Amino acid sequence: MKKRVIVLGSTGSIGRNSLDVIAGLTDEWEVVGLAAGSSWKALAEQASRFEPRIVALADESNTDQLQSALGARAKLISGSDALVRLVEEFECDCVVCAVVGADGLPATLRAVELGRRVALANKEALVVAGSILMPLAEGTGAEIIPVDSEHSAIYQALQAGRRCDVHKIYLTSSGGPFRTHSDAEMDEVTLEDALRHPTWTMGPKITIDSATMMNKALEIVEAKWLFGLDSEQIEVVIHPESVIHSFVEYCDGSLIAQLGSPDMRTPIQYALTYPERRACPSKTLDLFEMRQLNLFPPDAERFPALRLGHEVAKRGGTCGVVLNGANEAAVELFRDETIHYRDIARIAERVLRQHEYHPAPSLEQLMALDRWARDEVARCTVC
Ligand code: MG
Repeated sequence: MKKRVIVLGSTGSIGRNSLDVIAGLTDEWEVVGLAAGSSWKALAEQASRFEPRIVALADESNTDQLQSALGARAKLISGSDALVRLVEEFECDCVVCAVVGADGLPATLRAVELGRRVALANKEALVVAGSILMPLAEGTGAEIIPVDSEHSAIYQALQAGRRCDVHKIYLTSSGGPFRTHSDAEMDEVTLEDALRHPTWTMGPKITIDSATMMNKALEIVEAKWLFGLDSEQIEVVIHPESVIHSFVEYCDGSLIAQLGSPDMRTPIQYALTYPERRACPSKTLDLFEMRQLNLFPPDAERFPALRLGHEVAKRGGTCGVVLNGANEAAVELFRDETIHYRDIARIAERVLRQHEYHPAPSLEQLMALDRWARDEVARCTVC
């Protein structure tokens, strides 16, 4: 019997790459469910190619068009809880959580509650609710396997030793498009500049997060929860070539890293087939073509988001949801060209400082703070 996979966020960058990977594994895997936010045309095309049994669309306004495009081929569910209902529908072998932002949390949470394997690309779910998701996974036996390339590399490098022997980890970062910008040049950055990543092809939200290095800040918090580390055990190292995807340093000084071409299909496939490996559509590295690999310390002065990432990882509690909510709202304003690139980290920091901190919040408190942080960003920009 084939293994069954549900892809949440199938029309986004990670979702499309996931389907590309699954297309190469059709002897072993079948897609039983696909879900998207509002891109109904792309979802209909994917459904005709992969023939899932159920298709879910969060945005109800295009349900009729999608239904007529699907015909009787697949059952359609829609509405704000459609992704959660899709996860509940099948006892599947893996749920790929590739929704962007905190919107992905409810379905991720449900997949973990049901004890599924979760191929987690939705780092925001862990940043917001890692304190709830990780203990829950331990209780239900759900495997959370990261799809984020750095965390996949750490996950792989952790196979080389015992957790108690890990000294620290190094998360690599390309440094984004403004790595070599002067302070004055940073003031001139436009939306178009921020959407041009030097090494990775990704969706717009994560590309902007990479330009501010907020992506790395979120990844510090993600690593803390995924691997049970203290913030002092997590370092960021700038590596412009994006070939070394991260390192684990063990107590004997050995550094174990995973290398590969910058292609998300490798970590996606690893999360599906773990602990086995299969041939992958991504390009194999040619070691003789690589002239040099550079590693530098990051500049927390020019990229204040990094400092916020460490602070949030250290304090935990409600800090993750506030940083994430404020960042998501600020990125939206930047995409509308209402605020400047440098305002994103400034606003996120201001909202983080203003919030009422709780060390061990409930899910309801987290959701309320998520809304509060977004509203606060709107207020910040008005005054
Ligand atoms: Mg990453």
